Amino acid sequence: MDCEMIEPLPAPCLDVVENLRAVRGAIADACKPVGRDAAGVALVAVSKNNGPERVRAALRAGHRLFGENRVQEAQGKWPAFKADHADIDLHLIGPLQTNKVREAVALFDAIDSVDRPRLARALAEEMDHQGRRLPVLIQVNTGEEPQKAGILPRDADGFLRECREDLGLDVRGLMCIPPVDDEPSPHFALLREIARRHGLGVLSMGMSADYGVAVAFGATHVRLGTAIFGDRRALLGTPIGG
Ligand SMILES: *Cc1c(COP(=O)(O)O)cnc(C)c1O
Repeated sequence: MDCEMIEPLPAPCLDVVENLRAVRGAIADACKPVGRDAAGVALVAVSKNNGPERVRAALRAGHRLFGENRVQEAQGKWPAFKADHADIDLHLIGPLQTNKVREAVALFDAIDSVDRPRLARALAEEMDHQGRRLPVLIQVNTGEEPQKAGILPRDADGFLRECREDLGLDVRGLMCIPPVDDEPSPHFALLREIARRHGLGVLSMGMSADYGVAVAFGATHVRLGTAIFGDRRALLGTPIGG
């Protein structure tokens, strides 16, 4: 996966390729002490706020699994890439307003942030309408933060039953974003326990700062932005998608 072997790229793109390689190595290192196979940890490259040239670098390096947190931004960037690469797997990882459900179901390959009954109902209806049954994850607000999206842990059992049994959603697992100032491990452990109770296989947890810990707690998907694409704050002033 040497960049020169494909074709020369501008310097920032070379960093993306190098970062992908480094992150895969770090995931493998985190797997070893807990006896996990690194192949069981999918790397979701979070490309929000990054322009097409960095995404293209990741695509050229063979990466296909991406996450975006805003429907509108993703609509500006992804249709062209998807036209070129049929095997892209694009996940919505951010809050979804019900008035954007139609666009989200049309563009994304998975919705990882189903966080409330009203959204779950709107998604089920729209997926029926479009004949597109996307896999989904339920986002759990493990830190019970008022400003954060996600179903509260005490409501998770009922919500999961509604999503699966009443609405027929294809629920694959759970997602969480621990509070920034907390030790993340109790949050990862709580998510793992709720998933276990419901026989769910997918745990999307761990971001650039804590993915090693998440892997130790059983993450099957880690969502990395900064570790792959660099500090997004350095991109402020760069037109989104430009
Ligand atoms: C931005 C974002 C990430 C990636 O965050 P980094 O700290 O840059 O790795 C992961 N998950 C969600 C839901 C995000 O919005």
